Amino acid sequence: MRVAIIGVVLLTIFSCQRVDQSPDIIFVNGDIWTVDDAHPTAEAFAIKDGRFTAVGTSEDINSLAGPGTEVVDLEGAFIIPGLIEGHGHFSGMGKSLIDLNFLHAESWDEIVSRIKDAVETAEPGEWIEGRGWHQEKWKVRPDETVNGYPLHQSLSAISPDNPVILRHASGHSLMANQKAMNIAGVNAETKDPSGGVVVRDAKGHPIGVFEERAMSIISNAFYEYQDGLNEEDLWNKWYKGIEKAQQVCLEHGITSFQDAGSTFDELDRYKAMAEAGELRIKLWAMARHSSEVLSENLDGYPIINAGNGYFTCRAIKSELDGALGVFGAWKLKPYADKPGYTGQNTTSISELRTIADLAVDYDMQLCVHAIGDKANRLFLDMCDSLWQIYPDGPQWRWRSEHAQHVDTTDIKRFVPLGIIASMQGIHCTSDAPFVVTRLGKERAATGAYAWRSLLDEGVIINNGTDVPVEDINPFECLYASITRKRMDSDEAFFPEQSMTREEAIYSYTMANAIAAFEEDDKGAISQGKAADFVVLSRNLLSCSEKEILETEVLATYIDGKEVYKN
Ligand SMILES: [Zn+2]
Repeated sequence: MRVAIIGVVLLTIFSCQRVDQSPDIIFVNGDIWTVDDAHPTAEAFAIKDGRFTAVGTSEDINSLAGPGTEVVDLEGAFIIPGLIEGHGHFSGMGKSLIDLNFLHAESWDEIVSRIKDAVETAEPGEWIEGRGWHQEKWKVRPDETVNGYPLHQSLSAISPDNPVILRHASGHSLMANQKAMNIAGVNAETKDPSGGVVVRDAKGHPIGVFEERAMSIISNAFYEYQDGLNEEDLWNKWYKGIEKAQQVCLEHGITSFQDAGSTFDELDRYKAMAEAGELRIKLWAMARHSSEVLSENLDGYPIINAGNGYFTCRAIKSELDGALGVFGAWKLKPYADKPGYTGQNTTSISELRTIADLAVDYDMQLCVHAIGDKANRLFLDMCDSLWQIYPDGPQWRWRSEHAQHVDTTDIKRFVPLGIIASMQGIHCTSDAPFVVTRLGKERAATGAYAWRSLLDEGVIINNGTDVPVEDINPFECLYASITRKRMDSDEAFFPEQSMTREEAIYSYTMANAIAAFEEDDKGAISQGKAADFVVLSRNLLSCSEKEILETEVLATYIDGKEVYKN
């Protein structure tokens, strides 16, 4: 008996020593852009236990194969690291895939007609929700407008009994019909709240558009209605949206997603999903609440690499201003097309400072929405004064979310303060039609989406789409980053501020990893990192500019496993 046990033990030790160290799978004959400065190109790599174990020539990697190694011939396909969405709204993206979405609508009439169809199948009193409209992007402008906005009357006429709430593509204004305004108690006497505007016609009547903090007048009425609905139904809809969002991400080669602001309820659900193996892309999230709610709920945070690296929340989101398209960006000097007006401050500096103190206490990154040059300056100023107390601050990788308009004198301050510019290439070309109108030529030329100036100073720029504000498509965003051209036009927006193709790919992979403290694990095809990568139909470094837009994802891999195949 004893001999038998010793035999088993010996056999176990013997077999442990003989464990097969050869890769689980190798990929050979590829055209690989690794985003690893030490070895930028390669033909092949080996993977074991979900990580790259070797990267090199096909000959080198073939020689590592053991009897159990699977061999995949890439047949010359172009491979880059898994793309990371650097700033998006995950549940918002899911919701946009379920609700009425007007991102590609070409006129106000088209929107009204689609709402009319929705009204016909709606229950009496049911709120109709939609999002994604943008008056500056329509091919046909409405006859009557205020500040470019349509008026509610046509919408109110087709939906007299169902309240309608339509969120603007920017997320910084909304349109309501008369029924919704009645429920919310809005009339000509309704005052503008601090940090928001009830847009009015010449006679002072609300036109249905509510900007920035004024949106809550309508959305609170909507939430009140929603509170009366079955909570389980609402969460089921949320899960359905998440399921759709992750599928669309994988189809676009997105292997990690940085969520720019979720509630604690959502964060709890993401964590549970990750632990149950239900998240199919790696999610990195920012918690977004008032300082009061944050301080009551941050125990247990940060959460790092829950569910095998599928969920991390180690950042807090706040916002200093609104969006440029709706005059919400906070400016040092007035808008060129709205004299005397400098935009909106949406979170007071003292509240932001309280939130910053919480970020310090809990060892979390602070990500501050700052679009206008004043918002960016005040964020930099706040960091500057905080770092007097905390000399390590510049290593904390706090982020200016959007950094769309930065005064030229502030561009030099990002690196010494350690601030990352979390920008969205596609916002530049999307906003291009109104940027010069809003800012005037000089500010637009020197400080708007100033990638080149920031990169030349050594600033880390991470990239993304702000989905659902824009489409999740990373190739459209890379095209915008590289060409500064809209997809429908050959005219470039100050092309001297372009990124190179290598810089653009870096911004979507390694820079996004760095912006999340994940560069040891992601962002490049290098030994030891998670084997997240995408197989593409085009070589993004050598194809024509237009072909960047036609790039298709042939396959997406996470931790060495194929999670999407075209
Ligand atoms: Zn955003």
